[in-house]
Amino acid sequence: GESTRFDLVHLIRTAVHWVTKGERREIETTLDLPDTLTIQGHPGQIHQVLMNLVQNALDAMRDNTQTPRLTISAGQEETNAWLSVRDNGPGIDEQDLSRIFDPFFTTKPVGQGTGLGLSISYSIIADHRGNLTAENHPDGGAEFRLELPLSRDVL
Ligand code: ADP
Ligand code: MG
Repeated sequence: GESTRFDLVHLIRTAVHWVTKGERREIETTLDLPDTLTIQGHPGQIHQVLMNLVQNALDAMRDNTQTPRLTISAGQEETNAWLSVRDNGPGIDEQDLSRIFDPFFTTKPVGQGTGLGLSISYSIIADHRGNLTAENHPDGGAEFRLELPLSRDVL
């Protein structure tokens, strides 16, 4: 598609809706989102990124003993929109943190993960002059943080 202005908040709401729809378990979902965050680019691509981040979070919580908890927050800082996707799964092994964005890196059973999601997501975000990072949260679980420039005409 063409590069266009679109609302990141609307996209994240749709992505969460679609990904959690297929879940049998109860997921405690917390959305801490502003009304709107207007960015410029390819909404279909960004949607793909968000779907992958949310799906990864749910996959990571598969063997949770605690109730799976998905926390998504977003906001803006200076000229950037930021978005955080956090889960209460086991987190990412320290030795894997530098490899999860590599093509074909997956820890999922054969046939369940291509290992391409994060590598494609990283390229998409880079193409949009943004940034995608991963870390383990001090309270447990993984947190993915995405930054994208706000559309110039909303600044
Ligand atoms: P895939 O989902 O097909 O495995 P991805 O590129 O989306 O491929 O993710 C690569 C790997 O990164 C996953 O297999 C997993 O090891 C790790 N990962 C991604 N998201 C999370 C998460 N929320 N918690 C723990 N590990 C994660
Ligand atoms: Mg994935």
